[in-house]
Amino acid sequence: MSTLPAAVHDAALGNHEGGVDWNRVRADFPLLMREVHGKPLVYLDNANTGQKPLQVIASQDEFYRRHNANVSRAVHALGTEATEAYEAARGKLARFLNVRPEELVLCSGTTFAINLVAYSWALPRLKAGDVILVSRMEHHANIVPWQLVAQRTGATIRVAGILPDGQLDLDALYKAMTGEVKLLAVAHVSNVLGTVNPVREICREARRRGITTVVDGSQAAPHLKLDVAAMGCDFYAITGHKMCGPTGTGALWARRDLLESMPPFIGGGEMIKEVSFDGTVFNDPPHKFEAGTPNIAGFVGLGAAVDYLESVGMDAIAARESELLAHATEALQAIPGLRIFGTAPGKAAVISFLVEGAHAHDLATLLDLEGVAVRSGQHCAHPLLQFFGVAATLRASLAFYNTHDEIDRFAAALVKVRRLLG
Ligand code: PMP
Repeated sequence: MSTLPAAVHDAALGNHEGGVDWNRVRADFPLLMREVHGKPLVYLDNANTGQKPLQVIASQDEFYRRHNANVSRAVHALGTEATEAYEAARGKLARFLNVRPEELVLCSGTTFAINLVAYSWALPRLKAGDVILVSRMEHHANIVPWQLVAQRTGATIRVAGILPDGQLDLDALYKAMTGEVKLLAVAHVSNVLGTVNPVREICREARRRGITTVVDGSQAAPHLKLDVAAMGCDFYAITGHKMCGPTGTGALWARRDLLESMPPFIGGGEMIKEVSFDGTVFNDPPHKFEAGTPNIAGFVGLGAAVDYLESVGMDAIAARESELLAHATEALQAIPGLRIFGTAPGKAAVISFLVEGAHAHDLATLLDLEGVAVRSGQHCAHPLLQFFGVAATLRASLAFYNTHDEIDRFAAALVKVRRLLG
């Protein structure tokens, strides 16, 4: 069964020889055509959540119209179709990450994925004296679960610092990898600074020291061509809603032996082979970790999102976003009193900034009235903002479907609203 509209499969959007028709790509995103406060929308909050192409929207619509049933239980035709569609999405996602489908646990997103590692891998293993190493640039989803584990096991958290330009301080990180460190939790790409961490090298160093690695790939999967198998990590978490997919979808990749050694996190239907009041025989991974009815239509949509990203081409997406980032950085740097946080070489298309004398929330509110959506606040990364000594920043995060014209409109709106604030 194909739950995808033919449009995804025919006429590839990316003609990689001659370049991609970005206007045509943009036309796939209906939400981008709307107005906000009477102004054309300029959506620059992509690190928060991404917009969805018609192909993703249509795939879910078609699933509910024609194939809706629960997965794994029913032998009737619809049950089989729904199960096939759900497993097809797992296969597509596995291919996208270059991992094996049996090693990919489908879940609601990165927050769930990291909690799964915390509760199923870390909680039974860690003890007083052990150390969990995290970087200062982590999202709260890669901090708080480790604090909960630390509280319950007596392990402690150690923080690896960053350099003023937003790069990880690798020398300090490797020095912090002492014998007590059992786990390293690190972002692939920072949601605030855009820093792309050298995760392959970091995981190699951790592995040499027997440290298990959890990489938060939330901000990497939408922007970079990934090869998780080659990365050498132990766990890799992604979230669907930032990669053109529906909310409430995501995945945890883990090595098969790790998944086999871990107890289930959530118990219920779907994750068992046999249940009696004397005990339960669990299903094999990854199903052992997928109790209950999953977000089936959501994963059909995520499968369509993967098809979409691949049809545009991840290399083309990365190149397009670098170009947009360079333009936006230049436009913002021309604004007097504007300070950018995070200038690491090769960074992703995320710009956190402040303008002297203006509060981040005030600017974001006024920009909204101009049709420009940027995020203001702490971006679920309080410790990182504490490092920079600021209470909040504005963040403009770009996606391949943004345009150069939108960047100019954003910069012009920023100059205008800055003036309004005096
Ligand atoms: N980690 C990072 C780096 C993120 O940017 C986000 C989303 N803001 C998360 C984790 C949380 O992911 P989810 O929305 O899937 O819970």
